[in-house]
Amino acid sequence: MKQYDYVIVGSGLFGAVFAHEMLKAGKRCMIIDKRNHAGGNIYCKEIEGINVHWYGPHIFHTNDKQIWDYINQFSEFNRYTNSPLASYKGTLYNLPLNMNTFYQLWGVKTPSEARLKIQEQVAAFKIGEPKNLEEQALQQAGTDIYDKFIRHYTEKQWGRSASQLPSFIIKRLPLRFTYDNNYFDDKFQGIPISGYNGIIKQLLKGVEIRLNADFFRMRQIYESIAGKIVFTGRIDQFFDYRFGQLEYRSLRFKSSCIDIPDYQGNAVINYTDEETDFTRIIEHKHFEFGSQPCTVITHEYPLNKPGGEPYYPVNDIKNTTILNKYKELAGQQNNLILGGRLGEYRYYDMHQVIASALNKVKLELLKV
Ligand code: FAD
Ligand code: UDP
Repeated sequence: MKQYDYVIVGSGLFGAVFAHEMLKAGKRCMIIDKRNHAGGNIYCKEIEGINVHWYGPHIFHTNDKQIWDYINQFSEFNRYTNSPLASYKGTLYNLPLNMNTFYQLWGVKTPSEARLKIQEQVAAFKIGEPKNLEEQALQQAGTDIYDKFIRHYTEKQWGRSASQLPSFIIKRLPLRFTYDNNYFDDKFQGIPISGYNGIIKQLLKGVEIRLNADFFRMRQIYESIAGKIVFTGRIDQFFDYRFGQLEYRSLRFKSSCIDIPDYQGNAVINYTDEETDFTRIIEHKHFEFGSQPCTVITHEYPLNKPGGEPYYPVNDIKNTTILNKYKELAGQQNNLILGGRLGEYRYYDMHQVIASALNKVKLELLKV
């Protein structure tokens, strides 16, 4: 009998939900994380009384009542609604793409006028089934919108032409013909009142956790003490890159504390022009309607050199082909569970990570 039923690599949302549920089911779990804190990318650092989203802005949203009820066990949520702005060459527009944006762009006031304007531009192209992000965006929204809000932001964010990216990415950005600046179409949305750290703390209550512990430094030991390894790091690294490296997109965050109560009047402003080298500025206090005398902002820059933290999987054909080989290998190992954004190599949001972890727990418990 092994010392632990599960050694879970990674204390992000996947690892934390998995550990919480398994502990409840009477299993012996240990979590390790190479970082010096738990929580993975939802971790927040408190600066001047403000929860700074240390690895990028995180807004919880879901359409799934069960997931919403699940996460609400660990914290109440506030009424924050994400309504970012786009700054294009110094002019501000509302996001997501909605009647406010169309009015600001073309002076059109009714949905029919806006649809007509877009249809005129779309008709100029003869695109069949969109094969990439560029074609998808042009077909859905036309040239003005593509050039001002999508093309440059996308190319900065992903470090490649929009014609070399899968079309599903742009489907994340709503386009609607109502005056509604809510970025998400989902029924439920908000920021946890006890902070994301509060949620992780609740999830990990009673779970043995070791920080500053990189799995690959003591792999043999961890494997020898675990019935199963639950791995939420990079899937390609787990298999020693034997089929080649998967590409991940990385970012650099530059945070500053400023001695004024309000810097930009909104939590998120995207910079959608080519001239600005960062993609967005986040002002963290606005996620929680903060009234502190100072403020903390973060500039988010795309990282165009190798070696950065892997934040975004690049789910194009080339990487999917490599991924499938790793998945086949993983399928042959009974003592391995791969999970989360890096372990499954999927562009998961938080609610999807929770759903995936709960699903994998359920499957595991059925086996026993
Ligand atoms: P992670 O949070 O990445 O956790 C993995 C953990 O594993 C990390 O702590 C890491 O240190 C550890 N680890 C990796 N390798 C090893 C190793 N070898 N040894 C030990 N430990 C290891 N989702 C939303 O729903 N809403 C948003 O607004 C949103 N905004 C986002 C903004 C940005 C910039 C990013 C990058 C993501 C955003 N997300 C958002 C997605 C969200 O962060 C993820 O869905 C979720 O946090 C992933 O959880 P995870 O447990 O899979 O991975
Ligand atoms: N996007 C864009 N302009 C914007 C916001 C988003 O072109 O102002 C595109 C871009 O390709 C981005 C994708 O839409 O990668 C998904 O945006 P989302 O806000 O969901 O990205 P995330 O929060 O994951 O960074």
